Amino acid sequence: MTEIGKSRILEYTGRVLLLAALNYVFGKIGLLTAVQPGFASIFWPPAGIAIAMMLVYGCAIWPGVFIASFLFNSGMPEALLTGGTMEGFRVLAACGIAFGSSVQAVISCILIRRYFTLPVSLARTREVVTLMLAAGPVGCLIAATIGVTSLHFVGIVREEAFLQNWLTWWGGDVLGVFVFMPLFLVCSGTFERVFETGKKALYPYVAIIALIIPLGATLAAWKVAAQASYEKAHDQFAHLAIESEAALQHRMNSYEQSLLSGIGLIAGSASVERGEWHAFAKAMQVRDRFPGINGIGYIADVPADGVKSFLRETRADDAPDFSIHPEVTNNLYFVIKYIEPVDINAPAMGLNIAFEEERRLAAVAARDTGAAAITGRITLVQDNRKGAGFLLLLPVYKAGMPVNTVEERRLAHEGWVYAPFIARNFMKGLTINQGDDFNLTVYDGTEEKIGALLYTTDASAHRPAFTVRKKIGVKQQEWTLVWTSTKEFEQRQKTNEAIIILVSGLLFTALLGAVLQLQARRTDVVEEQVYIRTAELAEREAHLAQVVDRLTESNTELERFAYVVSHDMQEPIRMVSNFSSLLWHQYQDKMDASGKKYLDILIEGSRRLQNMITDLLEYARLGQAARGMQEIDSETMLQYVLENLNFVIYEHEAVVTHDKLPVFMGYPVQFMSLLQNLISNAIKYQPKGAEPKIHVGVEDGGDHWLFSIRDNGIGIDPKNADKIFEPFKRLHTYQDYPGTGLGLSACKKIVSNHGGRIWVESEQGVGSTFFFTIMK
Ligand code: ADP
Repeated sequence: MTEIGKSRILEYTGRVLLLAALNYVFGKIGLLTAVQPGFASIFWPPAGIAIAMMLVYGCAIWPGVFIASFLFNSGMPEALLTGGTMEGFRVLAACGIAFGSSVQAVISCILIRRYFTLPVSLARTREVVTLMLAAGPVGCLIAATIGVTSLHFVGIVREEAFLQNWLTWWGGDVLGVFVFMPLFLVCSGTFERVFETGKKALYPYVAIIALIIPLGATLAAWKVAAQASYEKAHDQFAHLAIESEAALQHRMNSYEQSLLSGIGLIAGSASVERGEWHAFAKAMQVRDRFPGINGIGYIADVPADGVKSFLRETRADDAPDFSIHPEVTNNLYFVIKYIEPVDINAPAMGLNIAFEEERRLAAVAARDTGAAAITGRITLVQDNRKGAGFLLLLPVYKAGMPVNTVEERRLAHEGWVYAPFIARNFMKGLTINQGDDFNLTVYDGTEEKIGALLYTTDASAHRPAFTVRKKIGVKQQEWTLVWTSTKEFEQRQKTNEAIIILVSGLLFTALLGAVLQLQARRTDVVEEQVYIRTAELAEREAHLAQVVDRLTESNTELERFAYVVSHDMQEPIRMVSNFSSLLWHQYQDKMDASGKKYLDILIEGSRRLQNMITDLLEYARLGQAARGMQEIDSETMLQYVLENLNFVIYEHEAVVTHDKLPVFMGYPVQFMSLLQNLISNAIKYQPKGAEPKIHVGVEDGGDHWLFSIRDNGIGIDPKNADKIFEPFKRLHTYQDYPGTGLGLSACKKIVSNHGGRIWVESEQGVGSTFFFTIMK
C-alpha cells in the first residue's frame, strides 16, 4: 500500500473513533436527562455531534455513530469491566438503536449535501432555517422510530409507553441537533465549512435560539409533569402495598388470637376430651369467622416411650380407630390429636407432623420460643387441590411449670394448638384493591422462585409499570411479598396533564417556527429587493455620472464656442457701430427723414448687439476655470461697485444702505460683478419716477454667509422666480427695461463658483430680495 493510502486509512479510522468517543461521552451526559421510567432522554447531544462531524468529514464516518450507540445501549463496556453478561435481547435492541441512529445521520447528511450548497450563507436566512429543520425535526424522525420500535420489539418499552418514549426520543434528538450541531462546528473551528458568516446576519441565530427555548422548556415541563404523575402513581401504589401488608399481618394476628382461646381451654382443664374440643371448635365457628383457616386442632407432643399409652388414651376417648401416621425414624411424635371440623380434615387426624421438615421446624420453633410460629410452604394432607399451605402453631405448656428458658419450655411442653391454612384462601381479599389494582404474589422465604410460591393473583402476562417488593417476618417465618400493578390501576393513573403540556408546547414551537420561517422568507425577499434596487441605483448613478460628464464636456465646448464667437464678433460689430455713428455725424443733413430713421435703428441695433456680445463674453468667461481664490473684503467690493454705479445712482436718486459686510475667500472680480448686477437690477426694475431704496444685508449661516439685496422695485411674479436665472430670460420688453437677459444667469454661475446658491423672494409691486450664499 502506498504511503498516501495508509495515511488516508489512518485519518479515516481516527475520525470514526473520534466520532464514536464523542458520542459515547456526550451520550452519558444526555442520559442524565432521561425521563423515568422510560429510556429516552429529553436532550441527546450525540445526534447533533454526529450530523456536524459527518457534514464536515463526510458521511462515510457513520460507523462511529453505530459503534457509540451500540456500546452505549448494550452496556457493553460496563458488562465487560464488571465481568457481567449481556442478555441477548439487550444486544438485539442495541443493534436496532445503533442502526436507527446511523441511518438518521447518513440520510440527514446526504439530504443536506444534496439539496444545499455548503457552506450556506447565514445571510440567506430561509436556507439556514430550512437546513436546521431538515437536520432537526425532520431527520430526527428516523432514529426515534427505529429505536423505540426496537425497544418495544424486545419488550423493554411497553405499548402504552411507546408514544411517550418516541416523543421524548425525537425531542431529545432535535434539541441535540439544534444545540450541539452549531456548538460542535464552532468548537472544532469548522463552522465556516457549513455556514458562511461573511455578512453579519443575526437572524438565523436568533431564530434557532427562539426555537430552542420553547422546545427545551416544553420538554422540560413535560418531563417534570410526566415524572410528577409517575411519582404520584408510584406513591399511591406503594401505599396500596403498605395497606395490603398491614392487612396480612392483621389477619395473621387475629388468627393467632383465636388459637389462644384454644390454649385457654386446654390450660383450664386437666385433660381436654374430644367432645370438649368439638364443642369448642363449633362455638368458635372458625371456618365462618376466619377465612382461609381450614380448621383448628391440637397436636400432642408425645414422648417416644409414651406413644403406646397415648394411643390407648386417645382411642378410649371416642376414637377407637385412631392411629399415628406416617411412620417416622426420628423418634419424634408430634401427633395431631384433635382437628375440627373432622369431616374436611379427616386425613390430618393422627398425622405425626414431625414426619416432614417444614412442619417439624415450625413446631420446634414454637415450642422453644413460646411464641406462635408458622411452617414454611407445605401441602396440606387435607387439601384436595394440593395447593400451597402452612400451619400456624401455638405452644401449650403444662400448667404451673416455669417456661422462662428453652430447657424449661421443653420440659413443660405439652403440645400445640394449631390451625392449617390453605394459602390461597388465607390471602384472598386481604384488601379490596387486591386483584383489581394490584396483584399480590407471596413467596415463602427470601427467594422469588416457583417452588417457594405461596400465593399469587397474577395470572396475566401484563408487564407491570409499578412493582413493590418486601420481605416480611410472619410468625418466625420469612415471606417475600411482591405487589405488581394491574393494567386497570395503570389506566386509572394516567393523566393528560403531561401530554397536554407536550402537545401544546410542541404546537407553540411549531407555530413559532412557521412564523420565523415566514419572517425569514420576508427578510430574504426584502434583502433581495434591496440588493436588486441597490444594483439598479448604482447602475443609474453610473449612467448619470456619464451623462453629467458628457454634458459638462459639451457645456464647456459650448462656452468655449460662445466665447470665441462673441470675441470674434466684437470687432465687426464695433465696426458697424462706429461707421454708423460716423454716417450719422457726417451725412445726417444729406438724408431724408426715412433715411435718418433707418440709420437711427441701425445705430441702436448695433449698440444692443454690442452690449449683448459683451455680456455674452462675460458670461462665457465665467465658465472657464478661474484663477485661485483670494481673501475678499466684501465691504470694499461694495464700495467699488457703488463707485462704478455712481452715475446711475445719482440719476435715479437711489439710496443704497448695507450691513457690515464680511471678509471671506473668493474670486474678487466675479464677486464684484455679482454685486453690481444685482444692485443695478434693483435700481433698474423700478416704477417710473420711483426712488430706489436698496439694502445689502448679510447673516452668518454657520458654514456660509447669507447675503441679501433688497429693493422696493416692481417685484417679480413668484411663478417666474426660477426662470429669470436662465440665460436670455427676460420678463420685460427692451423698450420698457433694456437689458440682455444674461445678468442673473451670470450671477448664478458666480454664486455656484463660490459653492453657494441664489434665489429670489418677491412680491409684485412691493419689491424683491435676492439671496445668495457664499461658503466661508
Ligand atoms: P436683464 O436685466 O439684462 O434683462 P437679468 O438676467 O439681469 O437680465 O434679469 C432677468 C430678468 O429678471 C429681468 O428682465 C427682469 O424682468 C427680472 N429682474 C431682475 N432683477 C429684478 C429686480 N430687482 N426686480 C424686478 N425684476 C427683476
